[in-house]
Amino acid sequence: MVKERYECIVCGRKFPKGQGIVISIGEKLYTFHSKGCALKFLRRVIEEIELSHVIKAFEKVSDEFKKEQEEKQSLRSKSI
Ligand SMILES: [Zn+2]
Repeated sequence: MVKERYECIVCGRKFPKGQGIVISIGEKLYTFHSKGCALKFLRRVIEEIELSHVIKAFEKVSDEFKKEQEEKQSLRSKSI
């Protein structure tokens, strides 16, 4: 059995399926061998997007994470 292998689109390194980071956007798969390469790619993607859209998306997602943290904390304090 041949293991499926992906190629990092940032640095070209090959890695086995199940490792690294794979993001599917639209019809395509974007494959990164490490978090570092994924971050490098995403940083450049952000530069390509209109700033007002980026600002909105960042605010929305950071609010979501803030809410998740608050929910976790309230769950924790209830269980004590
Ligand atoms: Zn890489």
